[in-house]
Amino acid sequence: MILKTFEELGVAPNIRRAIIEMGYESPMPVQEEVIPYLLGNENEVIALAQTGTGKTAAFGLPILQQIHVNNVQPQAVVLCPTRELCLQIADDLNDYSKYIEKLKVLPVYGGSSIESQIRSLHRGVHIIVATPGRLIDLIKRKTVDLQQVRNVILDEADEMLNMGFSESIDEILSHVPKNRNMLLFSATMPAEIARITKKYMRNPHEIVIGKKNEGAKNVKHIYYMVNAKDKYLVLKRIADYNPNIYGIIFCRTRKETQEIADLLIKDGYNADSLHGDLSQVQRDYVMQKFRLRNIQLLVATDVAARGLDVDDLTHIINYGLPDDIELYTHRSGRTGRAGKTGTSIAIINLREKHKVKNIEKVINKQFEQGVIPKGKQICERQLFSFIDKLEKVKVNEEEIKDILPSIYRKLDWLDKEDIIKRLISHEFNILINYYQEAGEIELLCEGGRKRERDKEKRISGKGTSRTSEKGYARLFINLGKTDGLAPQNVIGLLNDNIPGKKVNIGRIDLMKNFSFFEVKEVDKERVIRNLDGIKVFGRRVAVEGAQPSLSENRKQKIEKKQKDNRKENRKFKNKKVRKSS
Ligand code: AMP
Repeated sequence: MILKTFEELGVAPNIRRAIIEMGYESPMPVQEEVIPYLLGNENEVIALAQTGTGKTAAFGLPILQQIHVNNVQPQAVVLCPTRELCLQIADDLNDYSKYIEKLKVLPVYGGSSIESQIRSLHRGVHIIVATPGRLIDLIKRKTVDLQQVRNVILDEADEMLNMGFSESIDEILSHVPKNRNMLLFSATMPAEIARITKKYMRNPHEIVIGKKNEGAKNVKHIYYMVNAKDKYLVLKRIADYNPNIYGIIFCRTRKETQEIADLLIKDGYNADSLHGDLSQVQRDYVMQKFRLRNIQLLVATDVAARGLDVDDLTHIINYGLPDDIELYTHRSGRTGRAGKTGTSIAIINLREKHKVKNIEKVINKQFEQGVIPKGKQICERQLFSFIDKLEKVKVNEEEIKDILPSIYRKLDWLDKEDIIKRLISHEFNILINYYQEAGEIELLCEGGRKRERDKEKRISGKGTSRTSEKGYARLFINLGKTDGLAPQNVIGLLNDNIPGKKVNIGRIDLMKNFSFFEVKEVDKERVIRNLDGIKVFGRRVAVEGAQPSLSENRKQKIEKKQKDNRKENRKFKNKKVRKSS
C-alpha cells in the first residue's frame, strides 16, 4: 500500500494540526519510510538522506509522539554537529509540538552561557538537542541525567565524525540506557559510521533515500583546470558570467577563505567570508546577511558553513577540491535542492585532476570540462541582466513625480537611443574596459601543458593532415577565429546544446572564418541535428559534414584512377587471352 497522508503514517492529531499549519500537506519520501517504522517499538534506523529531504520531521514527529509529558525528564537526545543546526532542529521540534501542552525542548550548544542552559535543565525538559561537546560538559557537571532517555538521534552523523566528535559520541552513549533506540541520519556512509552502527545498534533497519554516497540528481558538475595563478581570475569570470549567482565558495583553509573574500570585496563583488577565526557574533551576522541575500557570494570553510541551511543556492564553487570525497558530496548537495537545478564548479590545477576522476566514481556522474567565458560574452550577459532588471524595476511614481520635470528638461537634447547608450556606458564602461584589457586564460587539458601546446599546433593546422581519425567524423562549422571562436567554445557548444549522452570530441581545427571539429561517427547526425541553425555570438550557425580536403580529394581521385587503370589492364589482358586461344 502506498501511504499518502500523515494520518495514514500514524501521526497523532495534535501533531498533524501543527504541521498542517506549517504547510506540510503530505509526507516527503524519507518521512513515509521512517515515521511508521519509528512509531513501532524497539526499532532502530539508519537513514541515508541528504539535508533538505525532510529528515527533521522524519525523526522529530515520532519522537515527539512518544514523549510522556508528565515525566519531566529527558526522554530523547538529538545530537548534531553545529550550533546552527541545533537551534534549527529545536525550533522545528517546537513548531511540531505547538499543540502538545507542556512539552519542553532545550537546545544546548557551545559558545553561549552554560549557566542558563543548566537553569533550564533544572526546570525540566523532555528533549535535549545538543552539540556533543557541550552535552559532555553538562554530563561532567552532573547537571543532566540521561537515564530515562528512550531515543537517541544522531543527525548529520558523518559531519559529526568529520568534526572529530567520534569519542564524544562514544562517551554520551555510555550515559544512556542500553535498551534505548538509536536513529542515525547521515548523508553518506563512511567506514566510521559503520563502526558506530555495529557497536551501538541492534539489527538496525536501513533506509536509503536516493542512492548511497550519490550526489543530488539535478546538480551539474563542471571543472576548470587552470594554472594556479589563474584560479582567482576564473572565479571572477564565473561570477561575472552569472549576474544572479547566489552561492558558496569553499576554500581549504581559513587563511585562503579570508584572502579570497578580501579580493572579491576589493573587486566590488557582493561577498563576505565565514570561517572559524571569526567570533560567533560575526559568523551569525554573516550568515544572516547571506540568508537574506544581502550577500551573493559567501566564501567559507566547510566547518563554518555547516548548519547554514539555504535552499536555493544556484552555485557551489570548490576553490580547489577537498581531499575527502565526502566533503565534495556535502558541498555539492547544497545546491540543486527542492526540485531546482544547481551547478557545482571545481576550479582546480593540474595536480588535482585525479580527484575529479575519484569523485566521478563516487557520485556516479561525469564532470563536464568548463569553457571559460570570454570577455565579450560576459559583458553581453551582464548587459542583458541589467536590461532585464531595468524592465522589471518598480517605479515609485509618487516619490519621483516632483523631480521628473526638471530631469526631462535637462535630458531634452538627447533622444531615446542616446539615453540608452549613456545609461549602458555609465553602468558598464569599467567592466568592458577590464575585459578589453584582460587576456584569455589558458585552460589546461589532461596530459598537461605539452598536450596543450600540441593542441595549439594542431589547431593552427601546421604539420597536420586534414583527414579525420579512425571512428571519427569531421564536421564543418561556419564560425572561426574572427568570430572569437576558441576550442573551449566548440566544446561548450557541444556540452550545452546536445541533449543525451556526452559527445566525445576529437580534433578541432580553427580557421579564420570557419572551423572543423571531429566527433565520434555515431554522434555525427545527433550533433548536426542539434547544432545546425542555432544562434551563437549573434550568428546563425551552420554545421554539416566536412567535404574531404583538397589533398584528400586528390588522393581519392588518384585512387580511383588507379582502380580504373587496373580494370582496363584486366580487360586488356582478358582480350589478349581470348585472342590467343
Ligand atoms: P529538513 O531536511 O528537515 O531540513 O527539511 C527541509 C525543508 O522541508 C524544511 O524547510 C522543512 O520545513 C520542509 N519540510 C519537511 N517536511 C515537509 C513536508 N512534508 N511538506 C512540506 N515541507 C516539508
